[in-house]
Amino acid sequence: MRIVVTGGAGYIGSHAVRAMVGAGHEVRVLDNLSTGHRAAVDPAATLVEGDLRDRDALDRVLPGADAVLHFAARSVVAESVRQPLGYWDNNVGGTIALLAGMARHGVDRIVFSSTAATYGVPDALPIREDARQAPINPYGSTKLAMEQLLAEQAVARPTFAACVLRYFNVVGCAPGLMERHEPETHLLPILLQAAAGLRPAFQVFGEDYATPDGTCIRDYVHVEDLVDAHVLALAHLHPGRVSTYNVGLGRGFSVREVVDRVRELTGRTFEVRAAARREGDPPSLFTDPARIREELGWRPTRDLDDAIRSAWTALTEARR
Ligand code: UDP
Repeated sequence: MRIVVTGGAGYIGSHAVRAMVGAGHEVRVLDNLSTGHRAAVDPAATLVEGDLRDRDALDRVLPGADAVLHFAARSVVAESVRQPLGYWDNNVGGTIALLAGMARHGVDRIVFSSTAATYGVPDALPIREDARQAPINPYGSTKLAMEQLLAEQAVARPTFAACVLRYFNVVGCAPGLMERHEPETHLLPILLQAAAGLRPAFQVFGEDYATPDGTCIRDYVHVEDLVDAHVLALAHLHPGRVSTYNVGLGRGFSVREVVDRVRELTGRTFEVRAAARREGDPPSLFTDPARIREELGWRPTRDLDDAIRSAWTALTEARR
């Protein structure tokens, strides 16, 4: 297949590009390199440096494509709280331009990266796909708006087929594809930097949540298992339909538990400080993975420990 990967220079997108190239597909990447890294793009893929809102760039990558994997988005919750206009412009505006481009070039299949952040503070746990969606930050609002747009596009264009994957917390890496954000905001990379002595201390954002140890609970899925979900999603697209799946393991870990796993697996000690809650963080998010297991046959094979080990290996090798 010919596959267009938006955001293919980013953390998750670059893993998907490597997997698609490995499976023998022809891959074109569209990335504005605002947060992604040129070096993360598999050399067998064609990289077009450009923005989703740039019509010329879309007209270069879309002709002849069979499907789009749409990762490109700004995705930092706290930043989105400070810059809602930038998030709506980039994420929703970019997706409108992408869907218009797809219609222009007769490309009808898309797998879309959504998020557990669209649920906001869930009414019940574990979270199922039919749970109420009520985001509590602009990042989640933009992802929900894009989901709605896809659903409306499927009504308007009977040939259009979409799969929405609502990611929980994505962690770990394939060899040499370390997660790198500037500045880094995500839990595992920050913890590993603290373990490597690259940060003076690790801060726990909130220890007064209504959870067993007071810290936030999240469902951590290995990026390579997440990419497998995309491969399955591509094979299950049906014209006129939008299918939606949560992607997580169905087991929650608290921030304190992740800290303990990192201490044990790296063998390093580092300072852990209590800090204030971070704006926009729901106390607890974990999925019921039944639907993706039953309908797509998704079988994750890696756990949080595997993710920590893979990311720690990548970090220590990158520093050699
Ligand atoms: N977190 C933390 N300290 C940090 C970074 C993150 O305590 O330096 C917490 C954060 O409050 C959340 C969890 O770790 O409860 C996961 O955060 P991350 O940013 O990795 O992902 P999110 O859940 O926001 O998508």
